[in-house]
Amino acid sequence: MGPIHSGISARAPRCRWLAWWVAGLIGWALMCPVLAAEDAPQTVIRIQLRWLHQFQFAGYYAALEKGFYRDEGLNVELVEGSPERQPVKEVLAGRAMYAEGNSEVLLARLQGQPLVALAAIFQHSPSVLLALRSSGIESPHDLIGKSVMLMDSRNDPDFLTMLLNEGISPDLVDVRPSSFDFSDLIEGRVDAFNSYLTNEPYLLRQRGIEYTVINPRNYRVDFYSDILFTHEDELRNYPARVAAVRRATLRGWRYAMDNPEEIIDLLKGRYQVAKSREHLRFEADAIRALMMPDLVEIGHMNAQRWNHMAETFVRAGVVEDTGKLEGFIYGEDKDRPLPGWVAATLFGGAILIVSVTLLAVHFFRINRRLQQAENEVRRANLALVEKLAEIEDLHERLQERAMRDALTGLYNRRYLDETLGRELARAKREGYPLCLALIDLDHFKQVNDTFGHLAGDEVLQHLGRLLRSRAREGDIPCRYGGEEFALVMAGMPLSAAWERAEEWREIFAESEIRHGQLKIRVSMSVGLAAYPDNAGTAEELMRRADEALYRAKDLGRNRVESAA
Ligand code: GH3
Ligand code: MG
Ligand code: MG
Repeated sequence: MGPIHSGISARAPRCRWLAWWVAGLIGWALMCPVLAAEDAPQTVIRIQLRWLHQFQFAGYYAALEKGFYRDEGLNVELVEGSPERQPVKEVLAGRAMYAEGNSEVLLARLQGQPLVALAAIFQHSPSVLLALRSSGIESPHDLIGKSVMLMDSRNDPDFLTMLLNEGISPDLVDVRPSSFDFSDLIEGRVDAFNSYLTNEPYLLRQRGIEYTVINPRNYRVDFYSDILFTHEDELRNYPARVAAVRRATLRGWRYAMDNPEEIIDLLKGRYQVAKSREHLRFEADAIRALMMPDLVEIGHMNAQRWNHMAETFVRAGVVEDTGKLEGFIYGEDKDRPLPGWVAATLFGGAILIVSVTLLAVHFFRINRRLQQAENEVRRANLALVEKLAEIEDLHERLQERAMRDALTGLYNRRYLDETLGRELARAKREGYPLCLALIDLDHFKQVNDTFGHLAGDEVLQHLGRLLRSRAREGDIPCRYGGEEFALVMAGMPLSAAWERAEEWREIFAESEIRHGQLKIRVSMSVGLAAYPDNAGTAEELMRRADEALYRAKDLGRNRVESAA
């Protein structure tokens, strides 16, 4: 038991440590959703617009004004754009969680920035080149040797790709950064001017100036525009919020497209937009043409078109490859990483399950060991009990042997000495007589001498059998010495004992004892003494019986004598 016990106690600290670990994990797993939920309601969600307030962002105003963001539990703030507040930069810097941008969002993504496109509000880009009809410019070929102002003269892939698609080397065109001053076109300081279909044509129309539009879309460059996007971290950590922002914004756009006049009122009233109502209406119509809300679901994005755009960037030499595109399109990537808290909870749960399993296995093993130990102890106990029984049996047999005579099986002298006093005391106590007979074989020496010692043993055994067969219950027959026997007869008076002794003597004397071929006859002499007639103590009783025996010898043997 010792080693087993110490083995178990040595493992106890590890168990305690495991239990604390599991408890900690449970706490952590329970806290994860709580921590995540804490964030949502009060956070101000900034949406960075691409430029100054105008009809171009109608859907966002509608969503805010009509409470679509509020319905989703979102507290949204719209931030006007400016040359210093560029959507991609604001989102990457974490100043805005969402923003609306153009193809620069894709460019940043292809350059490795963690941006995700949520919805393409405009199915086609409003960015075109405008030229005065008077310049005679009608197609990209007419731009050779002409001056062109581009909003982004270095990175704008729309126009670079348009030229390449038409087999025109961009070097043949005099590309300049935009002055953002439309009078440069009107007054002829530049031949073509990068404008928005939704805006500048209105100014030309208003002045009655005829113009030509060179639209990249007509030369196999067809880009999405006004893209609602966010940071990958936002999507990973708050996927529900991302879905809510997208849902409310698109709802806003639907409303704005159905109620353009209401949005124009809003822009003139709340947002103090300087453009005339007429101008805003022109903008709304141009936008409708780019969105095609009756044909295409607002916000729709197609992976192939995004891919086409990315390849356009590669062809224009703006980026090397489209490798970083994967994961850019919202709702497409099935393997999107789980939000942080879900991943943490799942991870915690997995560790929890592993821990509980380990713990269970651990306890199972301990239990099995305990059971084995218990079985061993039970077996040892059984063996011990058996051994004890054996010892007890042995002890009994030894005790039995100690009180028995080996040759005849009768009690021995030691036993007689021990019990005679006790028997006498009881006879005295209970008031009944007790008689002692001492028996000695006659001329036994001669038997030995004549027939041999073994034959003598046979005679002794014969007498033993006789005495045992004649003894009553309670009598104590014993072999007192070599060829001397004794019999204690409790409750028997001297006269009755005398008769019994006489009977045995007669039977014995007439017995023919066989030993091999030999037939032996032996007689015996008996001396009797009784309590209370002849003696009051065991010694006295013994002495008086012995005297009687001697007298029987003296008087010729083969006879019974009792104490006088
Ligand atoms: P008596 O009639 O006077 O008693 O004559 P006895 O020959 O019997 O004389 P005694 O009592 O002196 O002799 C006892 C003999 O008993 C001596 C011994 O050889 C024999 N004897 C004692 N114990 C044993 C025994 O265990 N086996 C055998 N075969 N003989 C024994
Ligand atoms: Mg003798
Ligand atoms: Mg004798």
